[in-house]
Amino acid sequence: MDVTLLFPILLGWAAGTLVNYAADVLPFTRRFSLPICQHCQAPFSWGDYLALRSCKSCGKSRGLRTWLVLILALVAFVYFWLFPSKALGFPLGAIVLIYFGIITVIDLEHRLILHPTSIFGAVLGLLVGTYIHGRAGGLLTGIGNSLLGGLFGFGVMFLLYQFGALVSRFRVRKLQAAGQLDDEEEALGGGDVYLLGVLGLMLGWPFIWNALLLGVLFGGVVSFIFILLLLLRRTYSNDALMTFIPYGPYFIVTAFYMLFL
Ligand SMILES: [Zn+2]
Repeated sequence: MDVTLLFPILLGWAAGTLVNYAADVLPFTRRFSLPICQHCQAPFSWGDYLALRSCKSCGKSRGLRTWLVLILALVAFVYFWLFPSKALGFPLGAIVLIYFGIITVIDLEHRLILHPTSIFGAVLGLLVGTYIHGRAGGLLTGIGNSLLGGLFGFGVMFLLYQFGALVSRFRVRKLQAAGQLDDEEEALGGGDVYLLGVLGLMLGWPFIWNALLLGVLFGGVVSFIFILLLLLRRTYSNDALMTFIPYGPYFIVTAFYMLFL
C-alpha cells in the first residue's frame, strides 16, 4: 500500500470522529460539551469515547451510525485525496464534507437543522462560494454570486415554507373536523429554509437554481417510489401523501454531487 495514503486515512478517521461527536452532543446540549451516551445520556470520558468503548453507565455499545460514519469518512477521504473535487480542492473539500456529514446525520436522526450549524454553514458557504466564483471573475464577482445564490436559496425556500404552513393549517382544520388531533407535522421543515440559504451561498448563482430543481426532483422520485411500495403492500392510506418529507438530505446529496462529482 502507498504510504502517503496513511495521511487521508488518519484524517478520515478524525473527520468521522468529529462528525459522530457533533451529532452526539449538539442536538442535546447545543454546544461542544463532554460526549454523552446516545441511550442514557451519561457522559463519556474522552478516552472511552475516542476508543469507541461501550457506555459504562448502561452498557450499550456505540451503535451502527458511529461505525457507518467512520467507514464512510475513511472511504470518502481516501477517494477525494486521490481524486480531489475540481471545484474545491482537497482541504476546502474536506471541511465541506465534515459539515455535510454533521448536518445530514443530525437531520436524519432528529429532523433538525440547528441554528449554530446554520450560522457556521453561512460563513463556510460564503467562503466556498466566493472561492468558486472568484477564481474566474475576481473577488467582487465571487462575493456577489455567492450572496445572490444564498438570497435565492433562502427566498425560494421561505416562500415554499409559507405555502407549506398554509397547507398544514388547512390540514389541521380537516383533522379537527374529523375528530383527530393535530400530529404537528410540517410538509417542509423551517430548518430547510436556512439550509438552502447555506447551500445557495456555497454554490452561488446560478448553480443553486440547478440544485433546487435537482433536489426537489430527487426527493419527489424517492417519495413516489415510497408511495408505490406502500400501495403494493396495501398499507397505503390517504395520510401517507401528507406525511412529512425530510427534504434536507436530498438537497445535501444534490449539493454534494455538484461540488464533488
Ligand atoms: Zn449509556
